[in-house]
Amino acid sequence: MQQYDVVIVGAGHGGAQAAIALRQNGFEGSVAIVGEEDDFPYERPPLSKEYLAREKPFNRILIRPESFWTEKYIKLVMGKRVDSVNPEAKTVGVSDGTSIGYGTLIWATGGQARMMNCVGASLKGLHSVRSRADVDKIMAELGSVESIVIIGGGYIGLEAAAVFSKLNKSVTVLESQSRVLARAAGTSVSRFIEAEHRSHGVDLRLGAIVDCVIGENGQAHAVRLASGEDLRADLIIVGIGIAPAVGPLLDAGATGGNGVAVDSLCRTSIPYVYAIGDCALHRNLFADGLQIRLESVQNATDMAITAAKAIVGNLKPYEAVPWFWSNQYDIKLQTVGLS
Ligand code: FAD
Repeated sequence: MQQYDVVIVGAGHGGAQAAIALRQNGFEGSVAIVGEEDDFPYERPPLSKEYLAREKPFNRILIRPESFWTEKYIKLVMGKRVDSVNPEAKTVGVSDGTSIGYGTLIWATGGQARMMNCVGASLKGLHSVRSRADVDKIMAELGSVESIVIIGGGYIGLEAAAVFSKLNKSVTVLESQSRVLARAAGTSVSRFIEAEHRSHGVDLRLGAIVDCVIGENGQAHAVRLASGEDLRADLIIVGIGIAPAVGPLLDAGATGGNGVAVDSLCRTSIPYVYAIGDCALHRNLFADGLQIRLESVQNATDMAITAAKAIVGNLKPYEAVPWFWSNQYDIKLQTVGLS
């Protein structure tokens, strides 16, 4: 059985940054990152921006060049999923049937894109935008597509809408609430962004409830609204948030629910197990101490640094001011704090 001083599960922003921060903080023990995607750690934000627009090739969105991981003695175990955690034995069970032993475990698994659960949701032509593989599939279909319906007016849906509209596609965005970006920005920002999309020809519908997806021969071709209206859709993007990927940790006894609960040093309720990034449920000073999950690169990075420092004995609580950026058309939007 392989054994590492620190095993990091998830090779996204948080996982990669945790390994980098361990080395930056003088950690000399063995470190492995186990990630279920095949690709070396890459930046997720360009997936709905420059990568989708084909303005940046994949090698330009890698978090570090491949050689970096070897130089820093960080073992990358890619294309493998951790399915279980055994806190007593201090091992994780991997999808290939092997186990890996850990001294300390950092859980940095982000989340899976939520999909629709209405009639027609499993038809071909519905896509999420979470991984490189998702976006490669979208790009492969895009050439033959005229009408695109985007379900969800959050950052990802709106960024994709901006790219598709620049590519001269006919784009409709369906938001069930009364404004876009309701989870992430104040009303004035929402109204500004809505006007911007409309001025670029996007058909933006607020208070729009999806009834079902209609298709033929297994392929989606329209979205039906609760109002009865059918909207033609050669391609459908579902941008309705993520479900944190914390099943194995909760099964192992960690406290949590919509995420795994961590303290201000990113420690879970299981000894020697930390959790960081999108999947970490923490009491946030800027949300009146409420337990929340933040889905941003900055949060994943700051939590990774907090956990890495704690592992080397530098106990600095996570208390960063949340901020988030988004690029849509020529606008670079930056929101600070929580709405
Ligand atoms: P992730 O980066 O999602 O990494 C988690 C990794 O763990 C994934 O590779 C996953 O496959 C893997 N994994 C999951 N379960 C397992 C398992 N059991 N075993 C092994 N591996 C596993 N944030 C911003 O601040 N600004 C932006 O503009 C912005 N734009 C975004 C655009 C898109 C399209 C997306 C998807 C996200 C965007 N975000 C943005 C959010 C940001 O990318 C995330 O907050 C950040 O990636 C979170 O890092 P993480 O390490 O927690 O999770």
